[in-house]
Amino acid sequence: MTFDYDLITLGAGSGGVAASRRAALHGARVAIVEGSRVGGTCVIRGCVPKKLLMYAAQFGDSMREARGYGWVLPEPRFDMATWAAAKAAETDRLEGIYRQMLQGSGVEVVAGWARLDGPNRVAVATDTGDRVLTARHILIATGGAPVRDSIPGIEACATSDDLLDLQQLPERAAVIGGGYIALEFASILARLGVKVSVFYRGELPLRGFDTMLRTSVVAELTAAGVQLHPGSAPQRVQRTSGGFLLSLGEDRVLEFPWVLNATGRRPNTAQLNLASAGLVPDAFGALAVNAALQTGALDVYAIGDVTNRINLTPVAIAEGRALADSLFGAKPHAVDLSRVASAVFTLPPLATVGPSEAQAVQAGLRVAVYEADFRPMKQAFIGGTERTRMKLLVDADSQVVLAAHMVGADAPEIVQSLAVALSAGATKADFDRTIAMHPTAAEEFVLMREPMRVLPAA
Ligand code: FAD
Repeated sequence: MTFDYDLITLGAGSGGVAASRRAALHGARVAIVEGSRVGGTCVIRGCVPKKLLMYAAQFGDSMREARGYGWVLPEPRFDMATWAAAKAAETDRLEGIYRQMLQGSGVEVVAGWARLDGPNRVAVATDTGDRVLTARHILIATGGAPVRDSIPGIEACATSDDLLDLQQLPERAAVIGGGYIALEFASILARLGVKVSVFYRGELPLRGFDTMLRTSVVAELTAAGVQLHPGSAPQRVQRTSGGFLLSLGEDRVLEFPWVLNATGRRPNTAQLNLASAGLVPDAFGALAVNAALQTGALDVYAIGDVTNRINLTPVAIAEGRALADSLFGAKPHAVDLSRVASAVFTLPPLATVGPSEAQAVQAGLRVAVYEADFRPMKQAFIGGTERTRMKLLVDADSQVVLAAHMVGADAPEIVQSLAVALSAGATKADFDRTIAMHPTAAEEFVLMREPMRVLPAA
C-alpha cells in the first residue's frame, strides 16, 4: 500500500513538534495537523506565559527587598494590560519560531482539527471542507485541556487559559484546586495584589509531593496572605450578576468576583473518532500506551498529555523523539520515566526529583532522611521570614541517593542539576566528598552530615 506520508502527527504541541521534526530529520515524509496554534499548551497557554507572569510577580518581591538593601523606590504598580500585550507579542514570536523549525525540517503543517478515519487515515476539518490524508504511522499528540465539568456550574469560571489572557486583574479571586497549577496561580496573583482564597479537597495541597514540600508551600502561601481552605471543595458554583457563589456545604456560601477553575485537565480525545481505529480511551479519556508508545491499534501511537501519565513538557518531547528514533532512525529506545524532576513555580518555588519519603518507604526501602532548614542570607539581611528547606533521601542500605526535594529561591535550577547526579546513581559519599560552593544555598546539599532519622521499610 502507498501512503501520502510516513507519519501524520495530530497536534503541534511540545510532543508532536518534537516527534515530527525528529522523524523528518530521519528522512520521513511528515505532516502535522494543528487545530489551534503551533506550539501547543506549553508555549501558548502553559509553562511559558505562566513563567512570564511569575517573573512579573517576582519583581514585586525584588522591589520590596531592594528597599531593605538601600534602594529608594517609588510605590510600584502592576499593569496587567501591559504584561498581556508583551506576552502576546512573545507567544507570537515563539509560535513563529516553531513554524520556522517545522518548515526548516521539511514537515508539512496542516491547519484544522483532525480525527481518525479508519486504519491509516486521518480526516482534517479545514476551512474548505474535510481533507483526508493517509500515513503509514499515525501519532496522537493532542494533549489535554482544562476540565470544565468537575463541579456543577464551574463551566462559567475562568481556566488557566483565560487567566493568561486577562487585561485586568480582579481585586479578589477564588482558586478551586490543590494541584500545582492552582497553587502557582494563587501565589502569583497574591504577589500581584489580588486577595486570593484557595479551596481544595485534602488536608494538604500538592498530592503526591513530599510532605515537607506540601507543608512548606502552605506556610509560604499563608505568609503571602493567601487564604487556604483545606478540606473544602465547593459542591456547586453559581453565577451571579457580580460574580460567583461557591457553595461549600452546610449552608456555607461565599461570593467572589472572579473564580479560577484549576480542578484538573483532561486528555483531548473526545473529538478524535477513536472508535474508527478500534481504540477505546480509559474512563478519563486517556489513551493507554505500552513502553514503545503503541496504542491498542496497529500503527497508531500516542505521547504526552493525551496519555495522562506524567504531564510535563520535557516528557512529551522525550517521548516524541524516542518514538521518531524508533520508527525511522533504527534506534529504538524507551524513555526512562523513573526519575523525572519537576518544579512548582510558586514564590518561593519548589522542586523535586525522586520519590517522596512515603513513596520510598512504600517501595520497600530503608530510608535515611537528611534535612536542612534555614533563613537564606538574602532574606535574613532584610528581616524576611521566607525559609529554604531541603531534603535528601538516601537508601540506608546501598547509600544511593534516591531523591532531592527543595523549597526556596532557585530550587528548580538547583534540583535540575542534582537530577544529573541522581541519574548517574550518585551515593551519599559522592555528595559528601563534593566541596561546597560558598556562599550559596545549594551548598547545603553537600553539607548534610547526619540523617535526621532512618525510616524502616514498609
Ligand atoms: P500540548 O502541548 O497540549 O499540545 C497538543 C496540541 O494538539 C495543541 O496545540 C492542541 O491545539 C492540538 N490538538 C488537540 N486536538 C487536536 C485535533 N483533534 N486536531 C488537531 N490538533 C489538535 N509542564 C512543564 O513541564 N512545566 C511547567 O512549568 C508547566 N506549566 C504548565 C502550566 C499550565 C497553566 C499548563 C496548562 C500546563 C503546564 N505544563 C507544564 C504542562 C505542559 O504544558 C504539557 O505537559 C505539555 O504541553 C504537553 O505536551 P503535549 O504535546 O502532550 O500536548
